[in-house]
Amino acid sequence: GPDYIRAIAPYQGGKPISEVAREFGLDETKIVKLASNENPLGMPESARKAMANVADAGRYPDGNGFELKAALTAKYGVPAEYITLGNGSNDILELAAHAFVQPGQSVIYAQYSFAVYPLATQAVGGRSLVVPAKDFGHDLDAMIDAIEEDTKLIFVANPNNPTGTFIPGDAIEAFLRRVPSNIVVVLDEAYTEFLPQEQQYDSIAWVAKYPNLLVSRSMSKVYGLAGLRIGYGIAQLGITDLLNRIRQPFNVNSFAQAAAIAALADDEFVSRSAKLNADGYRQLTQVFDELGLQYVPSYGNFVLVKVGEDDGAGARINLALLKQGVIVRPVGNYGLPQWLRITVGLPEENDAFIAALKKALA
Ligand code: PMP
Repeated sequence: GPDYIRAIAPYQGGKPISEVAREFGLDETKIVKLASNENPLGMPESARKAMANVADAGRYPDGNGFELKAALTAKYGVPAEYITLGNGSNDILELAAHAFVQPGQSVIYAQYSFAVYPLATQAVGGRSLVVPAKDFGHDLDAMIDAIEEDTKLIFVANPNNPTGTFIPGDAIEAFLRRVPSNIVVVLDEAYTEFLPQEQQYDSIAWVAKYPNLLVSRSMSKVYGLAGLRIGYGIAQLGITDLLNRIRQPFNVNSFAQAAAIAALADDEFVSRSAKLNADGYRQLTQVFDELGLQYVPSYGNFVLVKVGEDDGAGARINLALLKQGVIVRPVGNYGLPQWLRITVGLPEENDAFIAALKKALA
């Protein structure tokens, strides 16, 4: 295979509960997993019912996702032909790299940004231009300055994972105005539904203005459908047409489509999830303040916290937490070996993490 494929370091996800139970001799039912930015409420009941009504999984799913696109069209006012459905929003990110980047061409993203950007870039033999972070977030001016002759794609995560930083909508739009129109900007908004009202901005409305904008959204976070793998991209035809040529014909399965339609209509679940998250974030950060632990203020459903001054700290505290049945995410692979990323859980899960953290730090 090509050298650029051999050079890829595989994606490291949150450790599964069953694996941790086996490895540390723990009772599975007592393990708390705050490692993958999942929704602690699980999937919405509305989605569960919709899945139960899927007539026959012996048939292929609707490869064009007609009803789901109709639901998105109704909700966001975009034409159905601007929508690409993905097997998770990761699928959209990878399709973008595939569609626009040839081996040797460059892709821009920020330091401490989402781990799939380097993966998607390397998978197509692209060259990563990693722009140093500013205050743990994107330095959009520096990202403009980083543009080279052969730059084809820019990834911007807003809010960002794993740092939780946020760029106001007007700054994002100012950035879009400055990016040459032959470079595709993927605006990855996996966590956008968690934003407080005053921070929300209408990126989908920008799609009509910017033919090089691809907005990516996930159903894994606020909608609670991580295990079904569903996300979507919104862009003008120049982009969408290409993504649709290279995606797998049946990349989103029947259950995911049915569940997504139900979840998109479930405003009550979304607001309950966002409220639970805001409360849980306060619960966690209050304790970090009491303990004098530095953290990065977060707009997502997770928070990055510094657990020591030495480069072994993240791994050490992570292990101490695992032994107590609490799974969080070490971020050494992001170049943040002193930090851990904690997904906001249910109040009692947050309590369990806090108790385990206090012991681990003692
Ligand atoms: N983008 C960002 C910034 C993320 O944090 C994640 C989830 N880890 C994703 C995209 C992908 O989510 P999914 O594929 O589950 O939609």
